[in-house]
Amino acid sequence: MAIKKVLITQQGRKFYAKSVDEDLHTQYGFIKKDELKKAKEGGILKSNTGKEFFVFNPFFIDLYRKIKRDAQIIPLKDIGLIIAETGINKESRVLDAGSGSGALACFLASIAKEIVTYEIREDFIEIVKSNIEFLGLKNVKIKNIDMYNEIDDKDMDVVILDLPEPWKAIESCAKALKAGGFLVSYSPSVPQVADFVNALRKNESFVYLKTSEIAEREWEVEERKVRPKSRGIGHSGFLSFARKVESS
Ligand code: SAH
Repeated sequence: MAIKKVLITQQGRKFYAKSVDEDLHTQYGFIKKDELKKAKEGGILKSNTGKEFFVFNPFFIDLYRKIKRDAQIIPLKDIGLIIAETGINKESRVLDAGSGSGALACFLASIAKEIVTYEIREDFIEIVKSNIEFLGLKNVKIKNIDMYNEIDDKDMDVVILDLPEPWKAIESCAKALKAGGFLVSYSPSVPQVADFVNALRKNESFVYLKTSEIAEREWEVEERKVRPKSRGIGHSGFLSFARKVESS
């Protein structure tokens, strides 16, 4: 699977051409392969029915939206808060567990120096590998490690947990993080947050900072009909933040 071109209509409908060697069929008619092949970056293509499409090469985010997903992935709104609170940047080394489909690991790899991701299930490891390859990432390492029991990495700037029982991973996180490093835990339900934060407060290696939830509300803007979209806000998860304080 690859994506060669992104096409977008004036109304914002997006289409992905996986190849320029075959015609692209859309609900607005089809575009001939020869036209796809010679399309100029930023140019306009017309389907056989006369519909216009703007065409450009895929950005990271266009490809990211097409990765394989099996386990529930962390939504973009929550990734945004993780990056903002921890300041992950091109110097950062980040540990992520469990990998799931590798969505978070892959997104962070596009801005960080190095990502190590731990996963216990072989089938998920295969999905992550194919997503890493699809996105062309060179700075993600996936390891078959149980985050509750062992740890293979040290001096990390940030550790992010998306695990069913994150409190069981606190000791591993203390070993993996450098002093001042951030621990972030993402959990969908309240009892998980309570057990994690209570365990963290008893642990001398960490200072607990806060727990937040991001509720993103999309708005409809059509002439003067400007209002929140009728569809409700779905729940994703809570994010808890702490900092490592002892050097070990
Ligand atoms: N954040 C991921 C989704 C993670 S889903 C994403 O954005 O794609 C949670 C994953 O944790 C599952 O794949 C599960 O197999 C894995 N997991 C559960 N317990 C684990 C453990 N002890 N160590 C490592 N991975 C674990």
